[in-house]
Amino acid sequence: MPTDPVLVVHGGAWAMPDDMVDAHLRGVNNAISTGWRVLDRGGSALDAVEEAVVIMEDDETFDAGRGSFLNRDGRVQLDALIMDGATLRAGGVGCVEHLRNPVRAARKILSESPHVYFVAEGAEKFAAERGIALCKNEELVIPREVERLHSYQAELAKRTQSQDGNDLFAGSPDDVTISHDTVGAIALDCNGNIAAATSTGGTLNKAPGRLGDSSLIGCGCYADNESAAASTTGWGEPIMKLVLAKWTADRIAAGNLPEWSAQEAMNYLKQRVNGHGGIIVLSRDGHFGIAHNTPRMAWAYKTVKKHDAGILRES
Ligand code: ASP
Repeated sequence: MPTDPVLVVHGGAWAMPDDMVDAHLRGVNNAISTGWRVLDRGGSALDAVEEAVVIMEDDETFDAGRGSFLNRDGRVQLDALIMDGATLRAGGVGCVEHLRNPVRAARKILSESPHVYFVAEGAEKFAAERGIALCKNEELVIPREVERLHSYQAELAKRTQSQDGNDLFAGSPDDVTISHDTVGAIALDCNGNIAAATSTGGTLNKAPGRLGDSSLIGCGCYADNESAAASTTGWGEPIMKLVLAKWTADRIAAGNLPEWSAQEAMNYLKQRVNGHGGIIVLSRDGHFGIAHNTPRMAWAYKTVKKHDAGILRES
């Protein structure tokens, strides 16, 4: 029996300032429109999440694709994962520097490789061999992020002199004022299959080669028809220690509702490792949850009955 499709996306969770709200709302709504077109014509959840994430990677508002945060060396280094709940096939890329849309490369890995995960030059070579154009790293860097990195590093230098620079350098899992604009999408298609995708530039001033949670299976992204599809955002190190997307999906497999499970995941993140972030999660019966333990989160969803988006929901 055909299922009514559902699409949910997010564009980060943190103390987003007022003047960034409109751009985030526009971005998540654009992602919904594009992903929904796929679902509406009977396309797969996998295609829908890929297309929705591409829209947000192309939008400089978000920490994904062009416009991402810069690492300590002033370079963009991207991670992404896509996963198919029907087959459990997955494709992930980490630390790529020359791909505008890392989720496209991740999808090629899922569809065309016996492997699940490629990093750095190996990932780029794999993508190029399959027809994905490589770009220069400078094409992914925008002036706003150069400025952001410079002021962060200047602040860091000041604090180092006053002895508390180490905290800033490592990043603090409970500092919600640091931006987390990772993007993600989860979908249910008319055949009853679910899928998830997450894409990120990681954290500001990260060490080169640092990999976050976003592209790790079960941490920043997960999908299994027998449990749920989930995508997270927030400080990656705490999230990956808890394998949070899989943790949440397991709660749903045990019979809990996605709404409750998403909120529990945020409570667990805070209580266990003092982490912060947000999660979207969707089960095969079309129920979904959106939760964050940060002041704001950019999210949007669409079902056959309703399209809604928001940011201002305070936790
Ligand atoms: N989770 C991402 C990371 O740590 C960052 C984010 O969500 O903004 O790489």
